[in-house]
Amino acid sequence: MQPFDYVRVREISAALAEADSSADYLAGGTTQLDLMKDGVLRPRRLIDITRLPLHGIEERQDTLFVGALATMEELAADPVVGRRLPFVREALLRSASAQLRNMATIGGNLLQRTRCRYFRDPKVHACNKRGRGTGCAAITGTHRSHAVLGTSEHCIATHASDVAVALIALDAVVHITGAQGDRDVPLTGFYRTPGDTPDIENDLRPGELITAVEVPLLPPGARSDYLKVRDRMSFEFALASAAAAVVLGDDDVIRWVRVGLGGVATVPWRAVEAEAVLTGSRAGIEVFTNAARAALAGAEPHPQNAFKVELAQRTLVRSLQTITGVSA
Ligand SMILES: Cc1cc2nc3c(=O)[nH]c(=O)nc-3n(C[C@H](O)[C@H](O)[C@H](O)COP(=O)(O)OP(=O)(O)OC[C@H]3O[C@@H](n4cnc5c(N)ncnc54)[C@H](O)[C@@H]3O)c2cc1C
Ligand code: SF4
Repeated sequence: MQPFDYVRVREISAALAEADSSADYLAGGTTQLDLMKDGVLRPRRLIDITRLPLHGIEERQDTLFVGALATMEELAADPVVGRRLPFVREALLRSASAQLRNMATIGGNLLQRTRCRYFRDPKVHACNKRGRGTGCAAITGTHRSHAVLGTSEHCIATHASDVAVALIALDAVVHITGAQGDRDVPLTGFYRTPGDTPDIENDLRPGELITAVEVPLLPPGARSDYLKVRDRMSFEFALASAAAAVVLGDDDVIRWVRVGLGGVATVPWRAVEAEAVLTGSRAGIEVFTNAARAALAGAEPHPQNAFKVELAQRTLVRSLQTITGVSA
């Protein structure tokens, strides 16, 4: 690992003052330190932000205000999450391991980097995400776990967060502060698909800090589910996942619905096409299947990950069945 300076800050203004192009922020460190040990990230200075006053979780009128430094485990244990955001809790508890969740923060989770093996191996030259214009080793190499939605000819890496899939379905908002002031960005507009600049992954400007994530609570009567399909049942990233929430009328007509997909896209994926099919329709297998097809209609698979198109469709259908009680 390249030598680096370490500074711990206790005030947001101090963090912003320390930030420059050679520095990275350090929260739980579960992404940052791995990538430094592997030589992927080589900051000259680490700014430890764990003592900043960004830890709280607070219920506001119709939202849950989650400090960026709240850990994944703290959020999963929050009673409001258990009561009003159960699929957020499920997404968190199906992530990583308890040890990691006790270290890992919500801000860091949203900013975690891809698990693409070529990105994480600096010996591989061709990675447009590490070095713009170098190529993409995954497209010609191993890409079974890679994305089928939101891809480009320059990068097909998935975004690996589970909880972001539920948060994007809920229209969560990211609170950001920086040298130029504070701003709020909807999570749906926060992430960037790779296009021809896969190295730019989100809307965050240099030196900006995520201070909180504000999460709308589910409406009364909503039922939700997070289904994660993976190669083994624990400590594994999603091959496909679905976060869905539904308000069903007494006549079984879907009054309100939100759908997110994970494991299949370059960013946490909001499945608006599926929501359009479902809204106002009577819950049933055919409607669920049509919605799942609509969600994956734009998929552009590569040879080894073509199976993900059907897997993601089945994952969404199963999740909607679980929520509504509709049997096959
Ligand atoms: C073995 C393993 C298994 C995992 N499995 C899963 C899984 O199944 N599902 C899942 O969702 N995740 C999984 N993860 C990823 C894990 O959830 C993330 O590594 C973690 O959430 C990152 O949070 P952190 O606080 O450790 O961030 P750090 O590693 O400290 O930081 C991550 C990045 O975010 C930046 N950063 C952090 N906080 C802020 C902030 N407030 N403002 C601006 N920049 C910031 C840092 O500079 C860095 O670039 C796994 C990780 C490991 C190592
Ligand atoms: S998929 Fe993206 S991260 Fe992976 S090698 Fe290609 S450019 Fe790099």
